Amino acid sequence: MMKQSEINNVEQIYKDSSALLEGHFKLSSGNHSQFYLQSAKVLEDPKTAKLLAEELAKQIKESGIQVDAICSPALGGLIAGFALATALDVRFIFAERVDGVMSIRRGFEVQEGEKYIICEDIITTAGSALEAAKQVEKDGGEIVAFAALANRGFCSRVGSNSEQKENCKLPKDMPLFALDDFTFEMYDPDNCPLCKDGSIAYKPGSRGN
Ligand code: ZN
Repeated sequence: MMKQSEINNVEQIYKDSSALLEGHFKLSSGNHSQFYLQSAKVLEDPKTAKLLAEELAKQIKESGIQVDAICSPALGGLIAGFALATALDVRFIFAERVDGVMSIRRGFEVQEGEKYIICEDIITTAGSALEAAKQVEKDGGEIVAFAALANRGFCSRVGSNSEQKENCKLPKDMPLFALDDFTFEMYDPDNCPLCKDGSIAYKPGSRGN
């Protein structure tokens, strides 16, 4: 079992959980990469999920930000968001896509002026997180921060000096809390060194992972 002190090396936790895969991957963007993050695997052990969320909650508490509730975009953000809400002892709701449009259903009610953190498992360009945020705002909620276990390095997180890239969709003045940056190189398929070495990229999930 993992101790709190071991949370410092988030990358190692991902590797130990087989959540950080190494190979030759075809990403949903169409680009190729040598690495792939499968956050669901790191959350498979509830104790690990709890410890990671507690570490994230600690950062949020230390920032002094007040939060009333967490909202996660389904499906990817559900476990991370629930674990974070547990660690912060606040309410948890989720947004889901209906015919491609993010919406808040299932009787969840956003109160006027309620302060929300939008929580994902991984923040890439933060597209889904931002769509969930817009739904919360539409119902009168206030977004105070975004959070994720892992940041893919396009957005800039609190405590890291990496610059926000152009394709990050988060507003620049909005804090993003995440445990670590996972910045891997991505290649255009026509210019992929792994393809040039003769291997074939595969889509994670297509071989049972
Ligand atoms: Zn390739």
